[in-house]
Amino acid sequence: MTLEQTRQDRKRSSSAQRDDDAVSLRADLTIELPIRFVHELSAAESLQDVLDTVARWSSTVFGANRASITLAQSETELTLIAMEGNNAIPMDQPVPIYGTMVGRVYRTRQAEYTERFDGSPDLDCQMLSAKGLGCCLDVPMISGSRCVGTMNIAHESPNAFTDEDRERLQAMAHWVAASIRIHHQIEEMEVLSETDPLTGVCNRRAFATRFATLAKRWQRGKGALGVALVDLDHFKSINDTYGHESGDRVLVAVAKALDASFRKSDLIARMGGEEFCVVMAGVDKPALMSALERFNLALSELEIPVADSVIRVTASIGALLIDSDGTDLDSLVNQADQAMYKAKTNGRNRVEFVHVTQ
Ligand code: GH3
Ligand code: MG
Ligand code: MG
Repeated sequence: MTLEQTRQDRKRSSSAQRDDDAVSLRADLTIELPIRFVHELSAAESLQDVLDTVARWSSTVFGANRASITLAQSETELTLIAMEGNNAIPMDQPVPIYGTMVGRVYRTRQAEYTERFDGSPDLDCQMLSAKGLGCCLDVPMISGSRCVGTMNIAHESPNAFTDEDRERLQAMAHWVAASIRIHHQIEEMEVLSETDPLTGVCNRRAFATRFATLAKRWQRGKGALGVALVDLDHFKSINDTYGHESGDRVLVAVAKALDASFRKSDLIARMGGEEFCVVMAGVDKPALMSALERFNLALSELEIPVADSVIRVTASIGALLIDSDGTDLDSLVNQADQAMYKAKTNGRNRVEFVHVTQ
């Protein structure tokens, strides 16, 4: 099948899907949304904000005692990501896709309305009923060809919702699904644009922004700020001897060793070539030095296999500890760079330490 045929096929099947939907849609139905809801949506800073806002307002719009949103988590589970009102199924609880009404709605992509719970075999309906709810309405959130999760409302009285509620909730869910998809795409693009494609650590462009966030958090916390500039020794000769591709494998292994040696909250960035920078908030000299020792040990144990031998690598490190606020990134990196240069001139494979008290 050619690309054009595939495209046309896709076009045909998506318009067929729309026609199917149109059968059950009433063209005269409208949704009235409170203006404050739309303003709050516009002010939402994150996807979680969007979902919290939607859950809160959908309980108001539909006069529901409980409103919730689930997102697809895995092949077998949904996660309850936002909730308003009755806490019958708690937040962040994994919800099985099989054995629940909400899971069925997600799987079949068909809205379902349980007017009363008497004798329901579905686990979620039983949980809602046990906490005093009388009926629930679940609709799939579909964007393009993907179902991203479900929107759900429940009421204390049985049979509290109408066919119009079902269509309105479904329309709202499609609208929210589009917003979720856009947020996911933006997040993915942000991660890509901030990541060094070879090693997977933060790239130089994103380093300044991440540093600013870290430094801000540090000023509110305890301890000093540690910066380490790591430059591999004689890296050019590794490239010259074993080839650029082997050099790349060394860089990947070094980034892994850095990742394993520092805390998750520390910032690791590739500054360019064979130079990395690590920033640690809330450390003292012993903590900084022992983290660097851990890294140096990991580095000394690295053996990158090539044809009939292995590549070993060492690093020269400029380490800096800063006590006071008002940290200017360029000046810090400059000072760490000078310390690193000293490590080079003093024989390489060592750490030179500077304590900066402003
Ligand atoms: P020194 O011990 O003084 O640091 O010596 P060096 O050879 O490590 O320093 P130099 O700055 O002269 O060499 C760095 C080399 O890193 C030069 C460049 O070819 C190589 N390089 C830069 N980026 C990459 C990359 O992405 N992959 C590979 N394989 N090599 C790179
Ligand atoms: Mg260098
Ligand atoms: Mg070097």
